[in-house]
Amino acid sequence: MKKNVYFFGGGRADGNESMKNLLGGKGANLAEMAGHKDLRLPVPPGFTITTEVCIYYYKNKRTYPKGLKEEVAKALKKTEDLMERKFGDPQNPLLVSVRSGARRSMPGMMETVLNVGLTEKTIPGLIRQSGGNARFVYDAYRRLIMMYSDVVMEKAAGIEPKDDESGIRKQLEHIMSKMKKEKGYNSDTDLTNDDLKELTRLFKMRIKEVLKKDFPDEPHQQLWGGVGAVFASWNGKRAVSYRRIENIPDEWGTAVTVQTMVFGNMGNDSATGVAFTRNPGNGENDFYGEYLINAQGEDVVAGIRTPAPINEYSKSEQNRDLVTLEHAMPRIYQELFGFQKRLEKHYHDMQDIEFTIEKGKLFMLQCRVGKRNGPAAVRMSMDMLKEKLIKKEVAVMRVTPAQLDELLHPIIDPKAELSHRPLAKGLPAGPGGASGQIVFSAHDAVEWKKQGKKVILVREETNPEDVEGMRAAQAILTARGGMTSHAALVARGWGKCCIVGAGSLHIDYANKKLSIDNKTFKEGDWITLNGTKGNVYEGRLPMMDASAENEILNQFLKVCDSIKRLGIRTNADTPEDARRGRQFGAEGIGLFRTEHMFYGKGSDEPLFILRKMIVSKTEAERRKTLDELFPYVKKDIKATLEAMDGYPVVIRLIDPPLHEFVPREKSKLEQLAKDLNITLEELSNRAEGLHESNPMMGHRGVRLGVTYPEISEMQIRAIFDAAAELIKEGKDPYPEIMIPVVCDVKELTDQLVITKKVYQEVLKIYSLKKIKYKYGTMIEIPRASIVANRLAEVAEFFSFGTNDMTQMGFGFSRDDIGSFLPDYIKKGILPGDPFQSIDQIGVGELIEIGIERGRKTNKNLEVGICGEHGGEPNSIEFCHRVKMDYVSCSPFRVPIARLAAAQAVLKNK
Ligand code: PEP
Ligand code: MG
Repeated sequence: MKKNVYFFGGGRADGNESMKNLLGGKGANLAEMAGHKDLRLPVPPGFTITTEVCIYYYKNKRTYPKGLKEEVAKALKKTEDLMERKFGDPQNPLLVSVRSGARRSMPGMMETVLNVGLTEKTIPGLIRQSGGNARFVYDAYRRLIMMYSDVVMEKAAGIEPKDDESGIRKQLEHIMSKMKKEKGYNSDTDLTNDDLKELTRLFKMRIKEVLKKDFPDEPHQQLWGGVGAVFASWNGKRAVSYRRIENIPDEWGTAVTVQTMVFGNMGNDSATGVAFTRNPGNGENDFYGEYLINAQGEDVVAGIRTPAPINEYSKSEQNRDLVTLEHAMPRIYQELFGFQKRLEKHYHDMQDIEFTIEKGKLFMLQCRVGKRNGPAAVRMSMDMLKEKLIKKEVAVMRVTPAQLDELLHPIIDPKAELSHRPLAKGLPAGPGGASGQIVFSAHDAVEWKKQGKKVILVREETNPEDVEGMRAAQAILTARGGMTSHAALVARGWGKCCIVGAGSLHIDYANKKLSIDNKTFKEGDWITLNGTKGNVYEGRLPMMDASAENEILNQFLKVCDSIKRLGIRTNADTPEDARRGRQFGAEGIGLFRTEHMFYGKGSDEPLFILRKMIVSKTEAERRKTLDELFPYVKKDIKATLEAMDGYPVVIRLIDPPLHEFVPREKSKLEQLAKDLNITLEELSNRAEGLHESNPMMGHRGVRLGVTYPEISEMQIRAIFDAAAELIKEGKDPYPEIMIPVVCDVKELTDQLVITKKVYQEVLKIYSLKKIKYKYGTMIEIPRASIVANRLAEVAEFFSFGTNDMTQMGFGFSRDDIGSFLPDYIKKGILPGDPFQSIDQIGVGELIEIGIERGRKTNKNLEVGICGEHGGEPNSIEFCHRVKMDYVSCSPFRVPIARLAAAQAVLKNK
């Protein structure tokens, strides 16, 4: 018979860490902590019901496999024996928690029920166990009733309250607030045991009234209700939407862990906390965490009280006056410190730990690989590599491309920041800087984002219902909660800028207003956050990029370089881009688009001359203007070759259809006509003659050079001249001349004649024997891939232009997909945007054909990619697999490409 239940406790366990798919992350790690010979930590005993039971449950109308009840009874008995307590026993009751746990952590997205097994009958027994602490017991009982009615009796039963206020939990909270108000109490702790007892009576009455059912005052009924509710929560709204965002398959299911309750709220010798073996915010190798005396685990995560730091290192602005655990309970702190060291050594990774201290005894409730932001991920990888805790292959796999991206994200310009005073301060929960307009609800965040606005979600605290809004926001700001609150956990996982616990914020949801000290902000007002420091600023501060100066990042990328096979080049159209690309580690330029010098800064003069050239009527007219244009083109090319000294630079001859450059404004047309000494009418006629109904498939790319060889000649001369001058200056230029939009080898031979002629002329003028260069082509038309064997007879290199290859492969206009692509993705016709990540089965096959046929003709053919896909991690892995020589991408994506290229090697070993 299939095993459905896995026991752990008392120094042994049925499962282990490798069984995450079956036991969930939580169940597997509890088994490991409890049973592995190197650990055997004090874990409260219990058992895990497998994810397979969850799958069965959904396939079989929410029923359980045969024999499950018996297996649970057996595991419960073992737990009872170890604890020397009995579930449901009035004298000496065992209480359990019922928790969810999927393969991958889904923080707060599924349900938990605590204090299961507490009933009117077992109350006296628990009072005895707690040393006569009746208040604690009634408090536990009212928590159970609140949680159980909400999670099991309402949510799992599929009851949808009309609005927020009419949910059972809210109603019970109102009863409690009303009592506190009537009695003049400020805090929950003012409630006496008689008050709490009365509350539980009122709670039960209200539950009966609203849900038409009695609260089950029977331990086994509570237990199975809890188990069913956890399984049901796998398909709860929050969990489903989180799975969509995180790409977690619905078929995984969750496990359920039933574990002995230990109490952190049994008095001042009890506590509960969360800690990390290293700082998850910056990666420093120091034990970092928070705890609360006399509290239950959920209190820390819910952010209701400000937790205290566990040690000096964990102190912050907000909590620096609170007593550390190290100071309050030194012996326990030492024990915990030892455990965390052992855990990290055992798992070879930073661990996130939950612990509880019950009447002076330490229990480990959970451990898992800790979420971290990008800067922390890189730092930990490098530190652990130096500590010899991990190998370089592991270090490289520990950082995701998205985490690396965080390091490349903007921060507030430090100069601007110096001249602004923070409005408020909070805990630095997510790194980097962000500006945005204030919104107060997750729903508004999503709506405003749809309208293209940048928003900052401002909340009292967040809860799992807010995830989609948190995702949509640039950053998250909360008034309450610590570094382990929901907002902090989620933002850290995503690497999103986030500040929590900014206590001076007063939020008025009803009027959509935020006040800080004497200032009031309304919805739509701009604020700026520094999530690395925890500072909130008024207005919109300028951002900047600081990645190039990050020494640890550079070291990490060098490790990536030692593993990767692919070369990484950059697409650069200006000498500045080229220099930036070099700084980020590019080993050459994969695409220099000549035409870009006619757009943007400083382009007025060359553009004017280009326009004259375009509307020229005769070759002589054209040659004259080309001579005028020549020095501009040469200057840019020379500076770019110089910036990339020693590295190859692919220079593409002019690509777009010429009419793109014809001016539309009257004043510009007049100026042009005047300079050409023709009438405005004549100019209009000439411009009209250039009109095409389908310009992307019209007179562009190599076709221009075929019709007007003098245009190619001017560009090729500029390239060789620039290179020759650099050689004379003692430099080592390496141009690669690239012909765009080629579909046949004869186009290449046509342009090669010009290239060779100009080459010889330049050698003579400069008295040089040789200029190092290559002659090659873009492959961006499907036919080019098919005839690649012929192209390779002339071309020394291929560069796949996957933007056009995708356009022409699919027949999707790259400029017009916005109107239909979203429907294609929604309906599952395409898995995603093929202009972002290469369509491996279609366009990818065209690429493979091109490479294979090209290399058959010329085994030394150099092959790269210069479409936008060259900076996208999945596409980079594809390029690695099909054995390209290099990828080329925009300068800012070069570091990500270096990482992705190294990971491609490791994934395809
Ligand atoms: C391409 O088509 O992939 C390419 C790099 O060229 P462009 O984007 O300039 O058309
Ligand atoms: Mg193209």
